Amino acid sequence: MTKTSMRASTMLDVVALKSAYKDLSDKPQYQRRFHVMAKPGGAKCNIDCQYCFYLHKEDLLHQPKQPKMDDETLEAFVKSYIESQDGDEVVFSWQGGEPTLLGLDYFRQIVTLQKKYQPAGVRIENDLQTNGILLNDEWCEFLAQNNFLVGLSIDGPEEIHNKYRVTRSGKPTFHLVMNAVETMKKHGVRFNALVTVNNHNVKHPLEVYRFLTQELGVTYIQYNPVVEPSDFKTTAPQFWNDSMIPTVGSELAKPGHPMSVVTDWSVDADDWGQFLIATFEEWVNNDLGRVLVNLFETAVAQVMGKPSQLCITAEFCGKGLAIEHNGDVFSCDHYVYPEYKLANVKDRPLNEMAFSIRQQAFGTAKRDSLPKYCSECPYLKLCWGECPKNRLLKTPDGEEGLNYLCPGIKAFFDYSLPILTGISVLLGQNQ
Ligand code: SF4
Ligand code: SF4
Repeated sequence: MTKTSMRASTMLDVVALKSAYKDLSDKPQYQRRFHVMAKPGGAKCNIDCQYCFYLHKEDLLHQPKQPKMDDETLEAFVKSYIESQDGDEVVFSWQGGEPTLLGLDYFRQIVTLQKKYQPAGVRIENDLQTNGILLNDEWCEFLAQNNFLVGLSIDGPEEIHNKYRVTRSGKPTFHLVMNAVETMKKHGVRFNALVTVNNHNVKHPLEVYRFLTQELGVTYIQYNPVVEPSDFKTTAPQFWNDSMIPTVGSELAKPGHPMSVVTDWSVDADDWGQFLIATFEEWVNNDLGRVLVNLFETAVAQVMGKPSQLCITAEFCGKGLAIEHNGDVFSCDHYVYPEYKLANVKDRPLNEMAFSIRQQAFGTAKRDSLPKYCSECPYLKLCWGECPKNRLLKTPDGEEGLNYLCPGIKAFFDYSLPILTGISVLLGQNQ
């Protein structure tokens, strides 16, 4: 399948596969598992990070100035999400924009609804991704009591964090985030760090890592590289103008050039590789088994032949949908564009959307649209072409669909694969 096939898949109707429905035969359980990233407050945020890929959605999706998922839609979502899945655990993930802007009472209502529809024997978990600015004692009491796991957005120590994470009037936010850390610790709220790796902090891997692990005491870190196409505000991935796609290694394939394919604050792919190598070295030498780093955990698992723990390094996409404040459901959090809308939660159960032919086509296109350059890559099964939204480049022989981060990913595996293999052998022996 070519890149065009991804486009075609967005035109298909949402026709549910048989697997969308509960199988009451003797077959194994857990056939219907998927994840939905909920954005009940839309793109509304109380700060103005320059690199945020989501703020512009206010315009693209014609969001109102104060978007808020209304009571009827919220209840339809909670009910459908719980009823659409098998297994003994349902995980809700609340994101934005900034979800705490909806207020604490809104989240109390969410927990009440979850209890209303919670089947016997099913555990309900909640993740909240936040910039932390509104997290006071009252919030933290609630989060601790209801066992929320907070993903705190923090980009490193003060100077590094404040480079891009500023208020709408351009004021720094680091001290506000540190207040949130203190308050969460006081109340025993579980939290981890979400680090957006941009063109600035990518140059300071050890400062970032040591600050998080040694000063904040964080034991789980998610690193997300910023890769923002220059025309990301209006155009969905895979819908870019082909003539504008640069070749890997060219000047236009790097940030900083006026005609670059990415914005200035995006990471340079080579820098991303060096960032990963330096962080990995530090992690292996000091924190293996003590600190979890999303990209390294999955690399170890995949080298051991286990499935990827992250969608970006998995063979297929499609198991992580996104719901907007008005109930519209999209194929992925990174594909909240009109072309990738599946349906509205008030019109269709989520399982029909998650297990539909159209969503399956979206998912398999991740593997089937890879260029030959990736199919022949020694790291294919550890990378799978990374996230399709980042496939902005042409390969050296001119084929489209190569990931912007490819040079960095290759450099990282060139360095780390022997060590990853050693770790996997040790783990295998322990098992
Ligand atoms: S498009 Fe990217 S973020 Fe979305 S499911 Fe696929 S790999 Fe994950
Ligand atoms: S490292 Fe590069 S060539 Fe190899 S699979 Fe990943 S994106 Fe493709």
